[in-house]
Amino acid sequence: MTAHTPLIFKSTRSTHGRSKTERDAILADPGFGKYFSDHMVSIDWTVEKGWHDAQVKPYGPLLLDPASSVLHYAQEIFEGLKAYRHADGSIWTFRPQANAERMQRSAHRLALPGLPTDAFIESLKQLVSMDADWVPSAPDTCMYLRPFTIANESFLGVRSAHKATYFVIASPVGPYFSKGVAPVSIWLSEDFTRAAVGGTGAAKCGGNYAASLLPQQEAYKNGCSQVLFLDPQEGKYLEELGGMNVFLVKKDGTLITPELSGSILEGVTRLSILQLARDRGLKVEERKISIDEWRNGVASGDIVEAFAAGTAAVVAPISALKGRDFVAGDENAPAGKLTMSLRQELTDIQYGRAPDRHGWLKRLV
Ligand SMILES: *Cc1c(COP(=O)(O)O)cnc(C)c1O
Repeated sequence: MTAHTPLIFKSTRSTHGRSKTERDAILADPGFGKYFSDHMVSIDWTVEKGWHDAQVKPYGPLLLDPASSVLHYAQEIFEGLKAYRHADGSIWTFRPQANAERMQRSAHRLALPGLPTDAFIESLKQLVSMDADWVPSAPDTCMYLRPFTIANESFLGVRSAHKATYFVIASPVGPYFSKGVAPVSIWLSEDFTRAAVGGTGAAKCGGNYAASLLPQQEAYKNGCSQVLFLDPQEGKYLEELGGMNVFLVKKDGTLITPELSGSILEGVTRLSILQLARDRGLKVEERKISIDEWRNGVASGDIVEAFAAGTAAVVAPISALKGRDFVAGDENAPAGKLTMSLRQELTDIQYGRAPDRHGWLKRLV
């Protein structure tokens, strides 16, 4: 990286963008990650030139050489954050600096170039300004932003690529829970782990997700929508779900979540929930939590709520944990009170309905 020459974005407006009628039809029922706005960002990187050629351009397929390193050795990282339309029409995002810094850490682990924070935030601004009409305004809707970097040198030798490209695409999304926030059952993966000791668990990379899909299928077969993974060393302590961090609430109001182990992904939602809980004066513990502590705690009444946290769903209440030979909790139990109130507080901040006392919001448009 030639230090700190700010990137100048070149914009090319799409000549085949959707009409207002088409866009309105999509925004009326966007689902999640199904539709994409008319433009995307790309920024190229080479060993010689560093980051260069920043563009906002029409959304469309990539031309990739079949020998591109990402297709063979999975040298890829990504991020996920949202753009929220506030009541006055302005558009904001939430803690983008945290995502930028996490992406730099992911890049480091995957031997990819890290995009500087200011360029990361500017790329979101550029895309959301161009496609502002794609940010929906109905309650609980928003635009999901997906930055990602791929290695795209055409070379089959095994070493970190000398060429990479950073992209951002944007997808309007509807309420994650289309029929109101409903508790989910989760499946305990007893045969598979998500990440290894010293592996890539703390990095947001596609490979971690690939490894979680088979256990995820097992969860579906058992009537669960998510998988809980245990630590890779002893198979005893909670780590996280395939794409969300996990929290438990004790009878005395203590909020507990697994401490960062090196194989857990540090969620921005996790960090924010911990802060909101501390602000309320709740007792908060980041520590090892064994699967037996959860099972026994549910049985004894000491653990009264459980939830998962991540950008897409924000907070998803967990009603029951199921394993091969046990069920902890009641699949029909309603969402926990603290769970729902933390969810409400966080979304109120994100949508500009409550004061942003930590300065988490960043205006994009
Ligand atoms: C992205 C992700 C999360 C949640 O992170 P947020 O920043 O809260 O969206 C949790 N676990 C994994 C494995 C993830 O990839």
